[in-house]
Amino acid sequence: MTKTGIVRHRKYMEHWMGEYHPESPMRLEAIYSMLDEPDMAGKFPEVPVQPAEKKDILRVHSAGYVERIESTAGVDCTYLDPDTQACAASYDAAMLAAGGVCRGVAMVHSGELQNAFALVRPPGHHAERSQAKGFCIFNHIAVAARYAQETLNLGSILIVDWDLHHGNGTQHAFEEDPSVLYFSTHQYPYYPGTGAFDEVGRGRGKGFTINVPLTIGYGDGEFLTIFQELLRPVALEYRPELILVSAGFDTFYADPLGGMNVSAKGFAGLTRMIMDIADACCGGKIVLTLEGGYNVLGERDCVKEVLKELAGLSFTNPQDLMTLANPEMMDFLLARVKSFQSAYWKSL
Ligand SMILES: [Zn+2]
Repeated sequence: MTKTGIVRHRKYMEHWMGEYHPESPMRLEAIYSMLDEPDMAGKFPEVPVQPAEKKDILRVHSAGYVERIESTAGVDCTYLDPDTQACAASYDAAMLAAGGVCRGVAMVHSGELQNAFALVRPPGHHAERSQAKGFCIFNHIAVAARYAQETLNLGSILIVDWDLHHGNGTQHAFEEDPSVLYFSTHQYPYYPGTGAFDEVGRGRGKGFTINVPLTIGYGDGEFLTIFQELLRPVALEYRPELILVSAGFDTFYADPLGGMNVSAKGFAGLTRMIMDIADACCGGKIVLTLEGGYNVLGERDCVKEVLKELAGLSFTNPQDLMTLANPEMMDFLLARVKSFQSAYWKSL
């Protein structure tokens, strides 16, 4: 069995944005109780969680913004964005979330863990340098990528974002930087509005942002084919030293916010494919962090399948799922991405 670490902390459930908000503490309550069931308990070592250091956050966010979020600590409710609020505990939760992802990265880097999944709240990939956005306060995955480079001296890093929504914050953090390759599949046009085919990075970062915008209805076979035909060749050419994943489960077929068709087994297949890529490039080093996912029980089941795959408790063959792909949904899409990216990637 592979050593797969998890990041969990009760404080992540104290961040609360109101009774009717879909990004609710119940998401983690369901996941954490699944982890305590007999078939899962004791199998996933816990990463010791500490708050991120300010210097780690400041590599991605402005000092003024961090101060503003810190000032919400202990205050009942602060509106940060039309979709995003801070409660009294949100600053601590967000600092612990970023710190948890960084510690997971450090333990995977050192070899104490083979891979890790940070089961944190609030999510992060919409958070911009100086702006909370789309349920996100600090951009944990961006903070962790910079931490890996600055503190652990890693070079190139691949971020795969399979959340339903485009990770505008992550793209913007790295769009001029060839040392972080950002690959995103997302429903489009949809919130937050970014992530078109022609957003390929800027300046020295051109070609190091790959967007795969999708109409509704993409499922297991199509997502796996996208990963096989686009992500795999580019990743093998890029050869990252670490793979980070913005793992959102709002592409699940029964998600209330999304129009996609991915099943729990499909997420296992995507995980297996990323594991295969990581085995070829970087000794299997992968850290996932939880982003969206609003069907609470569906998300719990998806996370379980992903964890079993990471730990080698299950082995999903991506090829089996790929045969389900509808060619009519693939041909135009793949050709379109390649038309924007082939100038930067020999393998496309
Ligand atoms: Zn999302």
